[in-house]
Amino acid sequence: MKHQRSTAQWREMDAAHHLHPFTDTASLNAQGVRMITHADGIYLWDSEGNKIIDGMAGLWCVNIGYGRKDLPEIAKRQMEELAYYNTFFKTSHPAVVELSHLLAEVAPKGFDHVFYTNSGSESVDTMIRMVRRYWDVKGKPQKKTLIGRWNGYHGSTIGGASLGGMSYMHEQGDLPIPGIVHVQQPWHYKYGKGMSADEFGLLAASWIEDKILEVGADKVAAFVGEPIQGAGGVIIPPASYWPEVERICRKYDILLVADEVICGFGRTGHWFGQQQFGFTPDIFTTAKGLSSGYLPIGAVFVGNEVAATLAAGGDFNHGFTYSGHPVAAAVAHANVKALRDEGIVAAVHEDTGPYMQKRWREAFSRFEHVDDVRGVGLIQAFTLVKDKASQTLFDNWGEIGLMCRDIFFRHGLIMRACGDHIVSAPPLIISKDQIDEMIATAVECMEIFEQKLKERGLA
Ligand code: PMP
Repeated sequence: MKHQRSTAQWREMDAAHHLHPFTDTASLNAQGVRMITHADGIYLWDSEGNKIIDGMAGLWCVNIGYGRKDLPEIAKRQMEELAYYNTFFKTSHPAVVELSHLLAEVAPKGFDHVFYTNSGSESVDTMIRMVRRYWDVKGKPQKKTLIGRWNGYHGSTIGGASLGGMSYMHEQGDLPIPGIVHVQQPWHYKYGKGMSADEFGLLAASWIEDKILEVGADKVAAFVGEPIQGAGGVIIPPASYWPEVERICRKYDILLVADEVICGFGRTGHWFGQQQFGFTPDIFTTAKGLSSGYLPIGAVFVGNEVAATLAAGGDFNHGFTYSGHPVAAAVAHANVKALRDEGIVAAVHEDTGPYMQKRWREAFSRFEHVDDVRGVGLIQAFTLVKDKASQTLFDNWGEIGLMCRDIFFRHGLIMRACGDHIVSAPPLIISKDQIDEMIATAVECMEIFEQKLKERGLA
């Protein structure tokens, strides 16, 4: 596409009129934005012609990669045929019916129903309302409290930000709202020193049981967690954790909810993260990879028992103008079909995922200030540490992470710092050669980073 304006003009206009998410506006405007103008596969280009490896698949969402030719064609056709209609007035349309049918095919057994939203946050808020409605219909309206986790991320709406455990979000706007409590995250490196992974997994799950007993099982509606905490820094729980969480939820008659907004649609090499960890939730929330970010759409997958209970309750007074938007649904359908029929999810499981994990560990474990090198499928991370032998983290959590992240950015690689966790989740279509290219760039950056730490006397 030909653009009429210069980068400087765009920067000026952006600073004048555009408020960015999760951004210190004054400092961004002093620096000026980087204009991303086009993308193909795993690569982005900025307005100054720089080619960038997108090691984050946008915001963990462009699973199918950039530049597909079929998805815009399908969007165009759908827009011409039926650009919009709602699903409120006892009406439906082919795009949403086809998508629902396909999602029931790719979902784990027992998830035959979906409720549509436009984003992960809306999926989470929908789930909160659904869980509370479920217990109302069951005749237990006092079961209202949801348990989330510190450092979990469930979106930016009032419900999602409350359920998430980001204290810097809670600080703004009196969150969490009532009826939401948190337990500590299953971060073995920090909270399980000296314990085996399995022992720690059971301990971390027991914190949920403690919280249930503290609140009273008769008041707890659900426990909600990401299979792998993504935005919290790719915190991968030990194998013993999720099965034990499931056992506890069943024991106390509490719904188990997986937030699959990042893990869903192939990220771990399975269709959903719950399959990686071997547990069955009652409900799970999705967005991102559902359309690979080509259009905004989310879906709440509702287990058959919950769906039947909600149906028995009559009206569920909830929904969005754009629930099941025809164009987003048509694009999501084509995306999910391609993830399946082109073997993209299978390749992450069998080929590129294991390759990435092997190369990631080989490349980064040798660095003096890198520890807890981890990952599964095409989601991976490591933690920057002051001292590996004593497992000591840096002071001022997040400061060193940003410094490291900035070096990656300057060298044409986007990886993200979540505190001092450096994380990556590239498009699922990344090839082995591209994995090598990405890791080689990252290794160069890490050498520069460790040198800088020494120069600044930080290590
Ligand atoms: N849940 C999880 C697990 C997420 O990672 C995110 C976004 N990173 C959300 C919910 C919120 O999604 P959205 O930004 O689309 O509202």
